[in-house]
Amino acid sequence: MASRRGSSSCALCEGSNLPSCCTACVNARLVEYHARLRMMRSLRDSLQARIAARLEAKSEVDEQRIWRVSKTQDIMELRDRLTELKGKTVIEKTKVQQSSSDLKAQTASLNLAYVTVYMGTRATSETVNQNHKIGRMVYL
Ligand SMILES: [Zn+2]
Repeated sequence: MASRRGSSSCALCEGSNLPSCCTACVNARLVEYHARLRMMRSLRDSLQARIAARLEAKSEVDEQRIWRVSKTQDIMELRDRLTELKGKTVIEKTKVQQSSSDLKAQTASLNLAYVTVYMGTRATSETVNQNHKIGRMVYL
């Protein structure tokens, strides 16, 4: 308690067992107490401001990190989708090429069949004509 008295205590208060007992010393102690209180309050406010600034900075960093993680995930999903679509495109392209080649083969065999039928019809018709001529010649 003696250290709290400071140098402003009067002889009366110095001699007593109390922190202060006269009005002047009590007022002086109150003034010191208020000054210390104001100083501590301003220290508290500045510490709170520093903590708030650090929290805000940390929150911004966290937000950026979360945003980056989310975008990285989006990019990975899009890449997977692209790879899947590329695979499907290759399969579809192969199917189209297969169909095209089947169609070409069918067209070629149809053409061959058409030519065969046409030539056969022509040959039959010529044979019939020749037979007809021969018949007519026989009759003549
Ligand atoms: Zn005093």
